[in-house]
Amino acid sequence: MALQAPTLADLDLEGKRVLVRVDFNVPFDDQRHITDDTRIRAALPTLAAIRERGGRPVCLCHLGRPKGQVKDELRVDPIGARLSELAGCEVVKLDESTGDAVRAAIEGAPEGAIVLLENVRFHTGETKGDDDLARQYAELGDVFVNDAFGASHRDHASVSGIARHLPSAAGLLLHKEVDAFGRVLNDPARPFVAILGGAKVSDKLQVIDNLLDRVDAVLVGGGMAYTFLAAQGHSIGGSLFEEDQLELCKAALAKAAERGVELALPEDHVIAERFAADAPAEVSAVDIRDAWLGLDIGPATRERFAARIRAARTVVWNGPMGVFEMPAFRAGTEAVGAALGEAEGYTVVGGGDSVAAIHLLELEEAVDHISTGGGASLELLEGKDLPGISALGTRS
Ligand code: ADP
Ligand code: MG
Repeated sequence: MALQAPTLADLDLEGKRVLVRVDFNVPFDDQRHITDDTRIRAALPTLAAIRERGGRPVCLCHLGRPKGQVKDELRVDPIGARLSELAGCEVVKLDESTGDAVRAAIEGAPEGAIVLLENVRFHTGETKGDDDLARQYAELGDVFVNDAFGASHRDHASVSGIARHLPSAAGLLLHKEVDAFGRVLNDPARPFVAILGGAKVSDKLQVIDNLLDRVDAVLVGGGMAYTFLAAQGHSIGGSLFEEDQLELCKAALAKAAERGVELALPEDHVIAERFAADAPAEVSAVDIRDAWLGLDIGPATRERFAARIRAARTVVWNGPMGVFEMPAFRAGTEAVGAALGEAEGYTVVGGGDSVAAIHLLELEEAVDHISTGGGASLELLEGKDLPGISALGTRS
């Protein structure tokens, strides 16, 4: 899989208007206050590097799902205000993202300022990848930098489209992500172990299929493990089950056997009578009784998975091992996270909920790379090329 892109160093930035696609899709509370500005902070190194090299950053971003309509509550003014505080410079926030007035405002922006354009998803053409819209954005800049890893699996006008019209490169954040996944997928130190979990096996079978060609072991936990266990003839009680995925699970098991790759499934569980934080929980052997639900991997599985992880030299993790949001079903995710911290090798975590678990368990120091893109990282693990990355450098 090709996973490389031109970098900032490949672009001449001096005196140039630099269009930068950033991921500023931050969460807000009811009072329109930003509750987590991690994504804004993540773009600061790229913006600083552009300014240091004499470039004039013009940021494009999306917020929420306005579906091609102007929605006042999805205007990006609060993001501009926070960006100004964090970057320590003036931010000129404009109320549109295309057109002559925007172009003139960019020309007139003071030296040293960052320009922030309005929510690009106010245009209907944005999510359709409309090339005419991409050309209109491109008229506002001289070069294009994509730093929005979290949006790079989208073939949208401001993500992949602009690179068809301007010289382009990856920003520092995108570059870090590309490096991390490239190292794991293309050149892993062995043993290479993948840990997969989460709710739905249908979300992750493509990932398993692709990784089976690359890894030495796949450890499967979480809700997705139960369809696999059912495929092996185990009783899974009332645990998560996707009947239409049974055959694909069997095919994955067969592929693993053929390749000599270990596909490890839970050998015990933490089960409960109902899906609730206060439901009495107990440990179960591999076969689950009656209608009880498997909500976490059990102690023997935790130990086996942890031993595999500690001995690995490359580890990639996507998907929690249990319902980690509830303390009673957190031990599996915690054990896997702790083992990552003890592994000497290179460790990468991707996936929205997996990253949330890392923060909840304060395991940030335990992993080498925490991906900023849930959907984007999944598609990379599926072996797909991301449009926002492959478009870079196609035009000089
Ligand atoms: P990610 O966002 O990291 O890719 P997913 O979205 O695939 O992860 O899955 C995360 C969700 O899976 C969590 O909300 C977690 O509670 C749920 N989950 C994990 N194990 C189980 C289980 N055994 N039964 C039900 N839900 C589970
Ligand atoms: Mg998720």
